[in-house]
Amino acid sequence: MPLSAISVRQLHHVYGKGNLRKPVLIDINLDIFAGEIVILTGPSGSGKTTLLSLMGGLRSVQEGSLKVLGQELQGAKKRQLVQVRSRIGYIFQAHNLLDCLTAQENVRMSLRLHPEISFEERTRRCVEMLEAVGLGQRINYYPDNLSGGQKQRVAIARALVSQPQLVLADEPTAALDSKSGRDVVEILQRLAKEQGCTILLVTHDNRILDIADRIIHMEDGQLIQNVSSIESNSSSPNYSPALAESA
Ligand code: ADP
Ligand code: MG
Repeated sequence: MPLSAISVRQLHHVYGKGNLRKPVLIDINLDIFAGEIVILTGPSGSGKTTLLSLMGGLRSVQEGSLKVLGQELQGAKKRQLVQVRSRIGYIFQAHNLLDCLTAQENVRMSLRLHPEISFEERTRRCVEMLEAVGLGQRINYYPDNLSGGQKQRVAIARALVSQPQLVLADEPTAALDSKSGRDVVEILQRLAKEQGCTILLVTHDNRILDIADRIIHMEDGQLIQNVSSIESNSSSPNYSPALAESA
């Protein structure tokens, strides 16, 4: 049995109270194995971001079990949440870079939770990471002077520089044209495979489904699993041409 990076059992989540009570996640069960690249699709409002924010320790688990990198998040202490967060890289739809910081300074921000890494080592890693995403010539640029695709590549460098075991990416290509979007996910895929890191990526973009080892689908707060073939060997990408072509 491969190692689980994420293990979800009977997870439920509700927003609001009383008349405003709205269930957004209903009995979610899911395992994502170490080293897998899993794509999560589904209509807007189906609960994808809520699920990712729970997995990322950015929101408290209400009901059910959610284990991330071996840590149970249900009832976890703040210290344990911080610990788990420091092992996760986040990439959001909007790049969320700080405009007042250069590319390198933005990437450096995500090493804040790692006091064990020296100043020089941080610089080395940031520069190396920006080179890996093709921005070696732009390390001292401010976000205003970078294109949308370049900013999202800085966001990838920022997510990966701490060598996280898990990357959670929420519609990372949504604001990009198709070519830049494709470039961005290919960089992400390559670096993740090199680092042996697990990726869960939410997308509406049918053109990038083929980078996934597995595709899962969400509707109305429920997971419809194994959109791609469940039987195929987990070591080979089980790309689903039928799905990709339905675009
Ligand atoms: P998706 O990412 O699939 O679009 P979300 O997880 O963002 O879905 O949202 C799922 C549902 O929960 C939507 O109906 C949304 O309006 C609602 N929702 C999201 N965040 C909140 C919140 N903080 N408070 C109340 N309702 C929310
Ligand atoms: Mg969303």
